[in-house]
Amino acid sequence: MNSCRKTFAAIVAAFLIVPVSFMSAQAPAPPSPAIESRVDGMLAKMSLDDKLLLIGGVDSFYTNAIPSIGLKRLKMTDGPVGTRTFGPSTAYAASVALAASWDSELAYRVGESLGEDARARGVNFLLAPGVNMYRSPLNGRNMEYLGEDPYLAGRIATGYIEGVQSKGVAATIKHFAANNSEYDRHKINAIIDERTLRELYLRAFEMAIKTAHPGAVMDSYNLINGEHATQNSHLNNDILKGEWGFQNVLMSDWNATYDGVAAANGGLDLEMPFAKMMTADTLKAAIKDGRVKESTIDDKARRILRTAIQFGWLDRDQNDTSIPLNNPKGDQVALDEARESITLLKNQNNLLPLDAKKVKTIAIIGPNAPQAVTGGGGSSNTTPFKADSIVAGFTSYLGDRVKVMYAYGLPTMDELYDATDIRDMRVVRKDASGHEKVVTGERERHIKYWSKNAGNNGAGPQAKTATVWHTTGIYTSSTAGDYVVSGVTNGADTYVLRLDGKEVLRHDAARSRSDVSEATIKLGAHQSVKVDVVYETRSEKRHMAIAIYNRAEALSPSSQKIIRDADAVLVAVGFNPDLEGEGFDRTYTMPFHQNELIAQVASLNPKTIVALTAGGSVETEPWIAGVPALLHTYYPGQEGARALAEIVFGERSPEGHLPFSWERNLNQNPASAHYEEENGTKDSHYAEGLFLGYRYYTSMKQEPLFPFGFGLSYTNFSFSNLKVKRISENDVEVSLDVQNKGSREGATVAQIYVGDPSAKIKRPVMELKQFSKVRLKAGAKQHVMLHLDRRAFEYYDVTGKAWKLDPGQFIIMVGESSAKIDASQTIDMM
Ligand code: BGC
Repeated sequence: MNSCRKTFAAIVAAFLIVPVSFMSAQAPAPPSPAIESRVDGMLAKMSLDDKLLLIGGVDSFYTNAIPSIGLKRLKMTDGPVGTRTFGPSTAYAASVALAASWDSELAYRVGESLGEDARARGVNFLLAPGVNMYRSPLNGRNMEYLGEDPYLAGRIATGYIEGVQSKGVAATIKHFAANNSEYDRHKINAIIDERTLRELYLRAFEMAIKTAHPGAVMDSYNLINGEHATQNSHLNNDILKGEWGFQNVLMSDWNATYDGVAAANGGLDLEMPFAKMMTADTLKAAIKDGRVKESTIDDKARRILRTAIQFGWLDRDQNDTSIPLNNPKGDQVALDEARESITLLKNQNNLLPLDAKKVKTIAIIGPNAPQAVTGGGGSSNTTPFKADSIVAGFTSYLGDRVKVMYAYGLPTMDELYDATDIRDMRVVRKDASGHEKVVTGERERHIKYWSKNAGNNGAGPQAKTATVWHTTGIYTSSTAGDYVVSGVTNGADTYVLRLDGKEVLRHDAARSRSDVSEATIKLGAHQSVKVDVVYETRSEKRHMAIAIYNRAEALSPSSQKIIRDADAVLVAVGFNPDLEGEGFDRTYTMPFHQNELIAQVASLNPKTIVALTAGGSVETEPWIAGVPALLHTYYPGQEGARALAEIVFGERSPEGHLPFSWERNLNQNPASAHYEEENGTKDSHYAEGLFLGYRYYTSMKQEPLFPFGFGLSYTNFSFSNLKVKRISENDVEVSLDVQNKGSREGATVAQIYVGDPSAKIKRPVMELKQFSKVRLKAGAKQHVMLHLDRRAFEYYDVTGKAWKLDPGQFIIMVGESSAKIDASQTIDMM
């Protein structure tokens, strides 16, 4: 940590949050009359055409150059986990993992490192961080966001933005606002009441914008209360630019502008990736007939120029060729991030850490074991210069201390489909016009309708009328036993499978890209059943298959032996960029029979550790009781395998704490009932209101599977001596002692929640308002001082259109999670 960062830590500890950005050499200069007069000078030299050119992008990731004022084009890259747009780059852990670290200092370091990566590539705007709230595990982009709590997200985003901007690069906080699902993202209308909007969905933006002053904000695709984000004047003009005083650039998401005039008046400053709606023709006509004021265009140009001047882009070369593209400093940051974020959720009988002196052999299996899965899919996906798979990472970490055996695990779905033989098969295709034709291939014996890359068109263009494929035939078992019947299809397609006339599987259209369904049937030896499948596709490409296999025989004898003989087994399961990413939602159940794999491995070896890759929670009911250890790695970035090995073998204690609540099943999640668009409309009513995640579980006295803020360590901590003191009318000081009671070094998070039992309106029983990550040697104790400002006690008063504190007694709680409060104190506020 350099001295500037130490100062920062000290200042935060003393609870005065001063933007670090203003301290560092290349950080943006604060707005000033001198900057404004320089902007005035430039604006005076620009024609209307110049200004209109400036407010639209070009070549996917640039603004237009304006020769009349000598302005070069400004370059952008995604974010948030790597400067990924221009070739390989350091791949940091997913943003949700960064939130799981609960470490805003680390967020600063990650930002700083990304800032350097951006400078090495001549980038002006980093399109990150993303701070949309985690509302449901199904959102395909949860890994790009910072969890379910706006205070945690706001703090992490603040650190991240200050880090990025300390290098002279503008951060772009996104997606403003309420982009909390991916399905139908251009059309979905998030209906959110004003109080919920302010307290949950805008709050992280507000915190980060007011404290860290990002150079840009990106509007989202969706509508909010009936108006697209890019033309939502209430959000853009009234709140962002008005109330919050945002002075910099409000850009659109890529092709998220739907009406040029409405967007121009609704607050959008820069249309990306090019002026498709805010075109010169449209805006000139609108200026001419008075629908758009010329001063509105001036203001947009002014904001872009102001940002360029503040960040020094007009006065230096943004491309810093002294920084390596493959920056070794970034590798270290990525490693620290993975170490701090991996979260231990279950550790029955202290199975972990494994002792490398006692464990002779570890078996590693599962789909995410043989190749590195560093990040999710879509515009964040970063190709690193290097990344070890879990198998490779464990093997090199353990050397000759422990033997690593990779076992193949369950066959892939493809292999299972190809091994499912159907006799006397007949396929009849009925096309959209109702015409039927027998299309059975001569040697056809598998139920597999496959087009190339078909797995990618779940949310793609859909024909109005379905093509129906009707397959009949006979399946004959070999041995007696429980048979798994499994089907996969595009989210948008449907099918029904009947065996001997009885419905066994049915798939209705879903939001996910690829959907796997499973059922179990009993079959005797050499038993034949009549198979009947009706598959309806509206997609351009076919994608459906059925497998039937004996559960006990799916795992090959050699895999079974390796698993049984090992001293411990690590099962690496979860999602990957093809199955969790931008533009589509994901399934709650893990893909490709992974529940089955975990259950089978755990039944063969009691020392089974599950390592999960996912942007959020997954279905656990089929296996959690039988598995002694569970580690959530989120998407751990390029250094994930190394960090995981260090944690599994106890070189480091796990430190992550969940940035979201993990429900027992999807129905328990309070947003589940309201997540979908309502029948026949594009409306998604956020009817759970403020009672999202832990706000719901704690208020309704419900127990989730793993609570928000939860994470185990190899050591244990105590919080004591909690003192709460008013130090001014609006400020409260909270202090406590944190002690490491165990016999090894570790870190915990002192989480401060505030409750307002005497509020005049209904409030969640507790809300996170402060936290501090504390790292301590065995036995060591630290006195922690934290600050709560007035906002920590307020709610948004819709009638008064302002934040309001109801005078009375508040409860200040401290704990290691939202479900484990160790001490509390009351304080009167007025
Ligand atoms: C994403 C943004 C991203 C942009 C540019 C969009 O599809 O939603 O997050 O920054 O593309 O790649």
